[in-house]
Amino acid sequence: MENLRFEEMNLSSNTLKAVLDMGFEEATPIQSQAIPIIMSGKDVIGQSQTGTGKTASFGIPCLEMINPKDRHLQAVILCPTRELAIQVSEEFRKLLKFTSNIMVLPIYGGQPIDRQIMALKKGVQVIIGTPGRFMDHMRRRTIKMDAVKYVVLDEADEMLDMGFREDIETILKETPAGRQTVMFSATMSPAIMDLTKKFLNQPELVKVNRKELTVPQIEQIYFDVKEKNKLEALCRLIDIHSPKLTIIFCNTKRKVDDIVEQLLGRGYFADGLHGDLKQGQRDRVMQKFRNGSIEILVATDVAARGIDVDDIDVVFNYDIPQDEEYYVHRIGRTGRAGRSGKAFTFCTGKEIYKLRDIMRYAKTKIILQKLPTLNDIETTKTNLFVEKVKATIEEGNLNKYIDLVENMLNDDVAAMDVAAALLKLQLNEKVSDYSDSENDLNAPNKFVSSKKNIDPSKEMVRLFVNAGKKNQIRAKDIVGAFAGETGVPGKLIGSIEIYDDYTYVDVPYEYAKDIIEGMEGNKIKGKKINIEKAKKVKVKKYGSSDKNYKNNTDKKPEEN
Ligand code: ADP
Ligand code: MG
Repeated sequence: MENLRFEEMNLSSNTLKAVLDMGFEEATPIQSQAIPIIMSGKDVIGQSQTGTGKTASFGIPCLEMINPKDRHLQAVILCPTRELAIQVSEEFRKLLKFTSNIMVLPIYGGQPIDRQIMALKKGVQVIIGTPGRFMDHMRRRTIKMDAVKYVVLDEADEMLDMGFREDIETILKETPAGRQTVMFSATMSPAIMDLTKKFLNQPELVKVNRKELTVPQIEQIYFDVKEKNKLEALCRLIDIHSPKLTIIFCNTKRKVDDIVEQLLGRGYFADGLHGDLKQGQRDRVMQKFRNGSIEILVATDVAARGIDVDDIDVVFNYDIPQDEEYYVHRIGRTGRAGRSGKAFTFCTGKEIYKLRDIMRYAKTKIILQKLPTLNDIETTKTNLFVEKVKATIEEGNLNKYIDLVENMLNDDVAAMDVAAALLKLQLNEKVSDYSDSENDLNAPNKFVSSKKNIDPSKEMVRLFVNAGKKNQIRAKDIVGAFAGETGVPGKLIGSIEIYDDYTYVDVPYEYAKDIIEGMEGNKIKGKKINIEKAKKVKVKKYGSSDKNYKNNTDKKPEEN
């Protein structure tokens, strides 16, 4: 069965507006099947996995059937836990964004009962609650059931497992006989069937039947990532893999617009595709994607359905798909015609359950990997850049630039320095793109890493080396000696200032001690090295800057 569009469901204009505002592009399979049947007034048993949109399946018909002019309690939704009751209320609140005269109240244990009683007195038409607290109010007569016409048992199997069976039966017995009853359950145990027989009236079973689908043989990987870090994770993965064409799938139109905007802000060539676009606009986006003027397409499942591009290198599931079948459709965008492709899925904490459902359904393995660290990115970028430099040298046609470099050379500046400075400018700039995001995306639930916003200059220590130009020392020699003797990666060594008799070298704080200990007494260019932390000296009179250093070994070269 094709999924329905919400526009096809005869919803009131306010509900439709709210659903569209939530960014839902079309109904999920369970919604497409359940909503019309529930709206026709029948009892329903719905069976589908978590994350498939069951709340709206019973929520939309619920809000459509409430008579806003009647202040009596008309609908009761029972959920197993306080968390679920809150989640369902949240979804109802969104569905009611453009409706002002329907009052919904969540009721659960742990909340002061007086406050609930006061709220109930105002006239609540929908209660979303846990069975225990609901019973409590029934006994106190603070909830009256005479006008109830719609009851939902959400996650019914879960409620039975938690021992709410008696409460549920008591509640159901109190409701008027002519009510409509809707039950959702992930499983159909005998206990559930029993409850159904007792309390549901010729229910229709709504179950999402799936076709067998073949999953392409491609690399499928998932990353455990917090919602707020998804964009950063996305960018790192794109940078590391540098795919030519990428599709990013997310679940709502709003998310599509959001991601596109943020990617553009970070300098990627991206555009979005969703159902709000007119045919002409879609065609233009696809045209750009095909001819390579955008490399990243962000899309909802619906919007991507019509498109036909088959050399996608990487498919991202930015959100875990709403339906297991979508997963197969999504990743089927890559690895076509025998090409290699990759599918990356972001999974936030508990969503691992949804992922397991997908693996079971699609009979496929999705493997956990760690996200690339900033170091990985830096290495990749450096390698890429070095490759580019080599290619450019090979290409030739450099005369104009060689002249420029020659003009820069003098006693103090060697060609090596110029090259190093250019590299530094280029690579530093690239890496700093990441500077204001959390560094360690793989850290489990830690608060913001203490390494946030590192300013490289603040993490460097200036070292004094008692050899300079007179000893024919060049930056290369320093880097080579330091790296060789102490293992500090050459690219982490900062600015090197070579004077006649001595040299200042900036090194990362965490390597400083190793370098001093490792180098002391060693030779560079035949000169026995004396090395220590440079001492800062405030020069008050001329107050030039804090770049004035003075070492007690300053004079050593002259004394030698
Ligand atoms: P379930 O109860 O089946 O576990 P939920 O009702 O909690 O699933 O829905 C899971 C998520 O999917 C929610 O964030 C919800 O807003 C979203 N959602 C529901 N229906 C749609 C839809 N048609 N399109 C996009 N997102 C949807
Ligand atoms: Mg649910």
